[in-house]
Amino acid sequence: MEQKLQSLPAHKNIALVAHDGKKAALQLWCEKHRDSLSQHTLYGTGTTGHLIERSTGLKVVKLLSGPMGGDQQLGAKIAEHEVHMLIFFWDPLASQPHDPDVKALLRLAAVWNIPVACNEVSADMLLSSTLMNNELERTLPDYEKYLATRQLDL
Ligand code: PGA
Repeated sequence: MEQKLQSLPAHKNIALVAHDGKKAALQLWCEKHRDSLSQHTLYGTGTTGHLIERSTGLKVVKLLSGPMGGDQQLGAKIAEHEVHMLIFFWDPLASQPHDPDVKALLRLAAVWNIPVACNEVSADMLLSSTLMNNELERTLPDYEKYLATRQLDL
């Protein structure tokens, strides 16, 4: 797959998601990083977003609840370059009814090469990066070339 360069903007749209067993941890993390997070636009799955708004006062663009389609909505926004970073506290000790959606969300984050943190210490490292408030160069699949090749092949 051919790649191209496309920077992530200095002002980032950050997705926040936590499974039930990790919601308290994500709320605490958001409280700790309230000032940094306030400089960006936040997206969240329904319940996670609501809890973060309540505990931090930050505004969150709330999508559907994860098991009802919220993870898929976030995945679509990553593919459309609307979401630039994913903080996803998934619970490694609990099975989830929407496991295929969880996997799909992580897959699309890898396809489109956005920064992802799945636990607190990784999220701390991401937020402490000087790249948080600067443009961040990244490669990503060259979709136009991909489509042109497929049209020739099929
Ligand atoms: P929720 O969804 O924030 O609506 O609980 C999160 C998840 O994907 O489990």
